[in-house]
Amino acid sequence: MSTMPQTNGSALSKTLYEKCWELAHNLWWCWHPDVVAMFRDLSPERWRQLDHNPIALLREFTPETLEARANEMVLESRINYAYRRLNQYLTTRPQWAAQNVGVLGSKPVAYFSLEFGIHESVPIYSGGLGILAGDHIKSASGLGTPLVAVGLFYDQGYFKQHLNSEGWQEEEYLRTNIDNLPMKPVMKDGERLIVKIETEHEAIYARVWQMEVGRVTLYLMDCDLPENNESDRCLTSRLYGGDNRMRIRQEMVVGIGGVRALHALGIHPGVFHLNEGHCAFATLEVVRSRMEEDGISFDEAVRQVAQATCFTTHTPVPAGHDRFSPELVGEHLSPLQRQLGIDFHQLMAMGRVNVHDQNESFCMTVLGLKLSRHANAVSCLHGIVSRRMWSSLWPTRPENEVPIGHITNGVHVQSWMAWQMQTLFDRYFDPNWMDSHWTAEPWKDIQKIDPAELWETHVSLKSLMMEFVQRRVERQAKRRGEKETIYLDPNALTIGFARRFATYKRATLLMRDWERLLKIMDSTDRPVQFIFAGKAHPADKPGKEFIQRIANLRKDPHFANKFVFVEDYDINVARHLVQGVDVWLNNPRRPLEASGTSGQKALLNGVLNCSVLDGWWAEAYDGTNGFAIGTGTSHVNDEIGDDRDAKSLMSVLENEVIPLYYHRDSDGLPHLWIQRMMNSLCTMAWRFSAQRMVADYVLHSYLPAAGGVTCDMNFRQ
Ligand SMILES: *Cc1c(COP(=O)(O)O)cnc(C)c1O
Repeated sequence: MSTMPQTNGSALSKTLYEKCWELAHNLWWCWHPDVVAMFRDLSPERWRQLDHNPIALLREFTPETLEARANEMVLESRINYAYRRLNQYLTTRPQWAAQNVGVLGSKPVAYFSLEFGIHESVPIYSGGLGILAGDHIKSASGLGTPLVAVGLFYDQGYFKQHLNSEGWQEEEYLRTNIDNLPMKPVMKDGERLIVKIETEHEAIYARVWQMEVGRVTLYLMDCDLPENNESDRCLTSRLYGGDNRMRIRQEMVVGIGGVRALHALGIHPGVFHLNEGHCAFATLEVVRSRMEEDGISFDEAVRQVAQATCFTTHTPVPAGHDRFSPELVGEHLSPLQRQLGIDFHQLMAMGRVNVHDQNESFCMTVLGLKLSRHANAVSCLHGIVSRRMWSSLWPTRPENEVPIGHITNGVHVQSWMAWQMQTLFDRYFDPNWMDSHWTAEPWKDIQKIDPAELWETHVSLKSLMMEFVQRRVERQAKRRGEKETIYLDPNALTIGFARRFATYKRATLLMRDWERLLKIMDSTDRPVQFIFAGKAHPADKPGKEFIQRIANLRKDPHFANKFVFVEDYDINVARHLVQGVDVWLNNPRRPLEASGTSGQKALLNGVLNCSVLDGWWAEAYDGTNGFAIGTGTSHVNDEIGDDRDAKSLMSVLENEVIPLYYHRDSDGLPHLWIQRMMNSLCTMAWRFSAQRMVADYVLHSYLPAAGGVTCDMNFRQ
């Protein structure tokens, strides 16, 4: 909770300090580069040390010292301008919403997710799923879609990653200082709102925080309060930290607790959107409350709730879905089951594919699919995979009529595109291009851009990225008690690979053919360097071994300075890498990457994707806008598939990427490469914007769910 230090400002004219304080308390600031720069300029050194947290930074000033510093740095008009724009933003309704949101206006969407990645200073996310949720709510705010979000507040978040001298990942959990987060307690009737969630034994209590993300309010449930016993107080300490029992309790808190919190606040959503199965218990609580309030039967309530529920599945492997044993379900859901007026077998059946199989566990995805009439996967290919995977739930339908459509993921453009790129486009595009950046129209002007200018912008971003990497590597070495300086070559082709180190993502695929890799790495006239980052789940030993193999290459003379591992991948590291490398490499085992989004962030900055035709890339690649690894086939045998893809990866690097990058014209510029950058921006920057994604959700999922009309559930983009 953040209380502002006392100031002398009168109510009429706010002091600069008060304006900064308000700006820091709406995460709107984090996707406005000029506002970020304004905070940074208050004290660049401390800004970096404080993890880009403006509240922590403001605490180091008094209103007087801030005023003095603002004078010194000529910040006054920048603060006033930012403050005015925030207020304008909050008081206007975008035209798109005025024309399109219809019935959602009076009954908002409630968006549930177990994690939200909004900014590095708010550590309540681990990876892709969380970043997607953060980008979803930022974009809903941008479009003016009426939406409230519900998640959990983790006071230790996900772990901080360090590598020891042997290259082995070590995890560190830090307690977040709540005072420095942009959130405040949710109050009701003058008291803190606390919701109670019954189990068969003791109840779980959660208090509620609220955070403002532009026009969207995010409610976060937090179990660290004295009403809970010691172990339940830690329920929401860490993301993905505990066993299955902890997990089911967390999922009850976000789903059941979340619905109760909204209800207590008088928020009556017209649509419930479940981001992955984790939150699917929400549906059962909504059923319960409809039965109680409207006096309708269980079956009728289920019908109504399913009609109003949208469910997004993200996981293309059966093992990746949450499953709970009948014992755990009994211990946790029996009170709710009795209130629903059903028996235990009926409850279990809602989470079972085969409702008669007493041994089948309770699957959250099955619950999500059964309790929603609007289900979608997150890319076209993932839609096909999901329909096949869940076809047994609809035994009478042919596979291609299984009611799971797809809406391809996108990224929040203002958060991921470097301001230098935005400024470049400002000069060549229509002045209001950002308002319609998620349509093809503004990008038609891409060919007007002077290739030399696009290249210079890229090169300057590349050197900023390299400075960042060099600084981080030195800091990492210092922590290990070593002295390591690296020399990245500003002219070398620089390839980035940053993602979770799940083994299916095959971070070490490059290293399958050592001879061929050495030949690439030893070239002096066409140098290549790789920058890696990513965390392995604490329990994932093979993932950690991948990290170790890559990190230890720094000790090999062939690879020193050319294979660099940046520790503690987070939004900040991701932002630097996707803005500054030349190529973004992605080589998962097809079709296991449901969508992937990091390559979308990269393309916004003129970075070329080199990727297996999986997830979003399978529908994005057109032969001119990047590079493809493999031919778009899925292999049944992992060994054979890995071999083929490794060969294809090497060939693409040797025959396409490296020659194209080093092909310079008489003016010294790689014109063919720059043309590909333009093709990439022009064909994809708008399609893979999260604003396009949220607009698709509104039109194809939310409105049909809210309107109560029967629609074609098997919608396609
Ligand atoms: C974008 C992002 C991800 C997701 O990337 P994928 O391409 O889906 O692997 C994970 N972590 C961070 C920090 C990100 O910014």
